[in-house]
Amino acid sequence: MTTLADPVPGGRPGEVERAHRLVEELGARGVHGVVLAYVDTAGINRVKSVPLGRLPAVTRWGVGMSPVFDTFLADDSIVATEHLGTPDGDLRLYPDLDPLVSLAGQPGWAWAPVDRLTQDGTAHPGCSRTFLRHAVGQAAEQGYALRAAIEIEWAIGRSDDPEAADGGFVPACTGPAYGGNRLVELTDYAADLLAALAAQGVDVDQLHPEYAAGQFELSVAATDPVAAADRSVLVRQTIRAVGQRHGLRVSFAPSVVAGGVGNGGHVHVSVWRGDRNLHAGGDQRYGMTPEAEGFAAGVLAALPALSALATPSPSSYLRLQPSHWAGVYACWGHETREAALRLVTGMVGHRDRAANLEVKFADLAANPYLLLGGLVACGLAGLQRGLRLPPEVTGDPARLAESELADLGIRRLPTGIEESLREFCRYPVLLEALGPPLVEAITGVRRGEAARVAGLEPAAVAEAYRWVY
Ligand code: GLU
Ligand code: MG
Repeated sequence: MTTLADPVPGGRPGEVERAHRLVEELGARGVHGVVLAYVDTAGINRVKSVPLGRLPAVTRWGVGMSPVFDTFLADDSIVATEHLGTPDGDLRLYPDLDPLVSLAGQPGWAWAPVDRLTQDGTAHPGCSRTFLRHAVGQAAEQGYALRAAIEIEWAIGRSDDPEAADGGFVPACTGPAYGGNRLVELTDYAADLLAALAAQGVDVDQLHPEYAAGQFELSVAATDPVAAADRSVLVRQTIRAVGQRHGLRVSFAPSVVAGGVGNGGHVHVSVWRGDRNLHAGGDQRYGMTPEAEGFAAGVLAALPALSALATPSPSSYLRLQPSHWAGVYACWGHETREAALRLVTGMVGHRDRAANLEVKFADLAANPYLLLGGLVACGLAGLQRGLRLPPEVTGDPARLAESELADLGIRRLPTGIEESLREFCRYPVLLEALGPPLVEAITGVRRGEAARVAGLEPAAVAEAYRWVY
């Protein structure tokens, strides 16, 4: 279980001693450096790194980094908002030693996610990992625990070829969707990937070739939400690192090739009371307890606004097409893959462990800390208000006429960043949970991304973001 307490200047009790022990242990295993990682507002993983011997000092006093990264765009340009995006100030990155791990895909390196503190020792209000820790902490105060997992889809390519058919993307394998051929073509890569993740203590549930050209998917076991977000970053770094050792490029971009099926980052989340999964064994539809139904209804109501966190990139809106398994309609269904919210009940006999909600429309341009924090805040708000789910949807909503959709109260999720921001800016639950600095960063960065691609054709948008996430 990830600690929910903020880091403190001088180090949390016992942590500096632990850092000294880690220096010994990791040094004996050939580790030389530690990557200190966080995710910015645009969804980009930014890092600093220190030599291993500096770990105790960094555990005490952190390592410096400018707050300007809160308003970086995915192409590294910077947007200025009213209070953010200036060259002033400094923050301290504090590694969390619980998830610190040596990187099997990058021998010589260890990795740890960080929380960001101000130089006065208070939590930086723009720190997304802190936001998620606090959201989970608030749930815990009300007696609820949460479990989450983020699925990872990615396309595996070789160097782009401008002459290639798919906008220059050259898939590294040619076998069919879910095809055994693909696994044969990339057998060493896939085996090395599983080995690296096992060595890093990541519980992989499944690895399979996916639908789109060169696409694969990997799913991991559920954990507490902070660990799930950390793991999403770590697993992607490992997928990339192992790929590089095999001469492969990997793309987690929502849309790798405009018009095709994209990469999703489906989020699974469930609410528990102690050891009891509230999504199973209850007296509501599909075994939900009233609390789980309230949580699900809170998420459902918030989906259009949550798009500012779940689908933040111009590339996201190329992926969000009806009938592409991306779940572009704000509705829910039992095991319905075209609904943005899919109720997963799991196998009979196992439902008390397995039942959960899947938020399908999310992608991997999302900052996983912001997204999970937003989901927890909106779900809990629904639970507290005792919200009820509307009727469920079966089949693909895309087959229904506009008037039928309207009668059923089903709307399509935002189709662009501007619409997404309008929904976000009028959803108080989310705005209050995030607080003004994060809201300012999110709106500033999203507007910046939209301005960056204004007038570009879809193929050019896909290409601009293909290799950045
Ligand atoms: N690749 C699809 C997406 O964009 C998801 C496929 C699936 O259902 O796993 O979300
Ligand atoms: Mg999939």
